[in-house]
Amino acid sequence: MSSQYLKYLNGELHFGTGAKSLKLRDFAKDQQGPVYLYNADLIRSRVRQMQKALPNVKMYYAMKANSFPGIMQLLKAEGVGADVVSGGEIHRALESGYQGRDIIYSGVGKTKREIQLAIGKNIAQINVESMPELLRIAEIAKAQKARVPISLRLNPDIEIKTHKYIATGLKDNKFGMELSLLPQLIETLKAHQDHLTLEGISLHLGSQMLEFEPFREALQKLVPVYQKLQSEFSSVQKFDFGGGLGIFYEEQNLDKESELLQQYADVALSELKNLKAELQCEPGRWLVAHAGVLLSQVQYIKKTSHKNFIILDTGMHHLLRPALYGSFHQIHPLKESDQFFDADVVGPICESADFLAQNRKMMQVSADDFVAIADAGAYGYSMQSQYNLQEGAREVLI
Ligand SMILES: *Cc1c(COP(=O)(O)O)cnc(C)c1O
Repeated sequence: MSSQYLKYLNGELHFGTGAKSLKLRDFAKDQQGPVYLYNADLIRSRVRQMQKALPNVKMYYAMKANSFPGIMQLLKAEGVGADVVSGGEIHRALESGYQGRDIIYSGVGKTKREIQLAIGKNIAQINVESMPELLRIAEIAKAQKARVPISLRLNPDIEIKTHKYIATGLKDNKFGMELSLLPQLIETLKAHQDHLTLEGISLHLGSQMLEFEPFREALQKLVPVYQKLQSEFSSVQKFDFGGGLGIFYEEQNLDKESELLQQYADVALSELKNLKAELQCEPGRWLVAHAGVLLSQVQYIKKTSHKNFIILDTGMHHLLRPALYGSFHQIHPLKESDQFFDADVVGPICESADFLAQNRKMMQVSADDFVAIADAGAYGYSMQSQYNLQEGAREVLI
């Protein structure tokens, strides 16, 4: 695949690779309001690339990254399962053609109703995040006369280099269970073995991982735990090493990302190769981030004595990442220019955190022009809010 998925051809921004790339201005001029445009070919090629790098690893897509039905259907057709974190996501996955057996269910706050739903739909595996949750699942399973397949999400207390809001494998985080809980977990599982089947363990260190030594360390910490559980429960057969593989937002560099994928796969496969286990993973961002752009129309160019503001019809209500994490997204006008100016790119929301870029060297744009916000396919629309009663963005898959 060519390593450019957003590029100017004859002065016009095109999205996609090869001959099928789309001239974005032709698309944008017919749109009413901001729209997320997703490229199916890009997603498909990412899935296949990851499947190739992780042969014999069952992929469960973390659908909180992007749960657009067309994308869910595409991933289902590629043989990918779903990793859900709410009853709403269970419903969306089922509506998109998934069966309970294609779905695993993570998250720290599963309510009784959500657990009843998961059990009723024969979800393949519930990743349990605390002792009280384990007891709640056992109680509901007993009441529903069911036997529920579960996995223990373990927190290895390992720090990865990422934004602190998206690190999840540290003892300060609410996610997973600490290893010292193991004896109690074993005891509890044995007491409820008529209703709970321990299938394995799961791990998710956090998101936007670009270095893998901490990941290796976490796997090394969990391998003996897995073996111990396997010696206690013959049903243990699954090792889920989570998601979190990062991408580059500041540059388009798919070749370098392929190298990262290879490093990540090497760590996982080499550390887990001697286990008697079916391996699972839960990628989100890596599969879909590059495959989405958020198209928006410039409303005003506002100049103050200090700054220039490019005011768009989109903002933190559609794409929260810059406001929440200070994340970087490239922003390209659909029409190329050789002029540049420094500006903040902001939205209409009544919050000073409502920015998409700060102090950015921007290609020249004027009011009414369209811009494309790059790499918005993951954690974009799915984090949308209706703050200020602004209308939502729309979504289109091509
Ligand atoms: C969010 C999440 C993922 C996916 O993370 P990415 O960084 O998007 O790959 C995987 N597993 C769990 C439990 C998650 O919460």
